[in-house]
Amino acid sequence: MPGDGRYRPPDGPVRLGPATVEDLRRYDECGFRFWAERVAGPRGREEASGWRALVRELRALKRLNEARLEALAQRFPEAEGWLRAHQELLFALNLGFAWPENATPQARVDGALNRGGEYSFYTFAPPDTDDPTAFLRGRWGELWLAGYLLEHNPRQVKGVRLWVWPVLGPPLPVYDKPISQVTGPIRWRNEKVRATLERYQRGEVKPNPGFICLSCSVRDVCREGRVG
Ligand code: SF4
Repeated sequence: MPGDGRYRPPDGPVRLGPATVEDLRRYDECGFRFWAERVAGPRGREEASGWRALVRELRALKRLNEARLEALAQRFPEAEGWLRAHQELLFALNLGFAWPENATPQARVDGALNRGGEYSFYTFAPPDTDDPTAFLRGRWGELWLAGYLLEHNPRQVKGVRLWVWPVLGPPLPVYDKPISQVTGPIRWRNEKVRATLERYQRGEVKPNPGFICLSCSVRDVCREGRVG
């Protein structure tokens, strides 16, 4: 390791392990950051707190019920009113839903619901989120999963509704109608996922310096980071 404590990217291919669709998006932004956070240790990554900690717990629970809601309300008293106001929906959701099973890549959504072949996917968001379309524009997983289901299960899946759900607020619809066919934004994500997965599976770890360096959690160990 160099004397100034900064790393160079590994020379050869690196085994990066399984990936979700959002992992691939993050890897596409900067392969070195992805590797440094995942393999060399998440230096600088903050422990989840506040609404992020609540979302992490909800995902891990898989299903919410009265007793679990009670326990969450004690741990997150500031969110108790929100949890209770939306408990009917929260109880119905498959939380931390991942699909397809045992596959790479796998898409994960915070909450999923199937009502007679119409799926709804919910993605929790920061409390101040007010533009669900803009929020989803920066993500790949939800639209990729909608396309995957429509392509692979056309008989069972009539449509997919996408929701962005700011913690402490109501769910916000991303579109006014369910998605019932593979659209341009889905095709774009499919192609990005396909191309990124190829590089990922080859084990390429390359820095991609740019604006993202400004908020990079491993900039202090990266030789390529731009300080602005
Ligand atoms: S500082 Fe920039 S180039 Fe280096 S790991 Fe972070 S995002 Fe990538």
